[in-house]
Amino acid sequence: MTDSAHRAPKILEASDVVKHFPIRRGLLRRTVGQVQAVDGVNVALGPGETLGLVGESGSGKSTLGRVLIGLLPATSGEVLLDGRDIVGLSVRELRPLREEMQIVFQDPYSSFDPLSTIGASLNEPLKTFRPNLSKTEKTDLIGDILKTVRLDPNHRVRYPREFSGGQLQRIAIARALLLHPKLLVLDEPVSALDVSIQADVINLLADLQPEFGLSYLFIAHDLAVVRHVSDRIAVMYLGRIVEQGAAEQVYTRPKHPYTEALLSAIPLANPKQQRQRERIVLEGDIPSPVAPPAGCRFHTRCRYTLDICRSVDPPAFDTADGTTVFCHLHTSGPRLSGETVVNLTSART
Ligand code: SF4
Repeated sequence: MTDSAHRAPKILEASDVVKHFPIRRGLLRRTVGQVQAVDGVNVALGPGETLGLVGESGSGKSTLGRVLIGLLPATSGEVLLDGRDIVGLSVRELRPLREEMQIVFQDPYSSFDPLSTIGASLNEPLKTFRPNLSKTEKTDLIGDILKTVRLDPNHRVRYPREFSGGQLQRIAIARALLLHPKLLVLDEPVSALDVSIQADVINLLADLQPEFGLSYLFIAHDLAVVRHVSDRIAVMYLGRIVEQGAAEQVYTRPKHPYTEALLSAIPLANPKQQRQRERIVLEGDIPSPVAPPAGCRFHTRCRYTLDICRSVDPPAFDTADGTTVFCHLHTSGPRLSGETVVNLTSART
């Protein structure tokens, strides 16, 4: 991404996004609680930029991805897509905007109707959004987009079961690109694939990004996957972004203890560094989003917990390198080496 991408108007700007799912019980279906899946998130994405969104299973990242493209209605907040707020729009009002934002899901096999040919599946968005195209024009477009994802155009007459997972994920990417969207949400696009073909799909996505002028929200549970494809990384824990900054900074100089723990699980290429590096094991499971811990939501698993962490929500702190972190260590904690920002112990090189 160039510097101009930072200055250009954002494709996506989300502020204070909340998504709660009511828990209903009894004959009258009374609301007895809320699953606080996303709770006050701010993210922004410029043209041609990739934001990696990482966190454990249950952190709310997939829910956030769906809210950001209107697949799920936000409970509150603002989501500007190309300057237009999509929160509160009806399905009908959202329909013309669907062309501009598409999603690729984790499991390519469940993304396609097993009884329809690939050509028929790819024809669906064209029938809806390009009704004036002739049959030949649609067939040509489908053939072209299959070639773009490095598959044989004649594959359109085949069925999903005739493809490998990697090939089918390429076809899912082709379907998402057919309408030339501006924003692609990639929801764990390689997690279900064999390790040997994950790099192929990631490289394909990287090649397609400038060609199609795409912005990516790349969701993953593994920081290693998003490092090389992301301009910025946002780390999510229990419905909140806890750290967000330039990919290299987040990866090499983590500011939040949760980011530090996630990074410590990634094997290092250098055996000496690997031996010296401490593996931080997060105790216990991620708490329930129905009743998240008071104060810092991470305090039940954090190895640096201060008294204040148990009762006071940490405010945002902007570090000198442009990272935003939510942690009391940076505002109320001990100051190391005279610096205002704490250096966590397992920063990577
Ligand atoms: Fe740990 Fe406290 Fe920072 Fe939360 S605010 S991550 S509990 S040190």
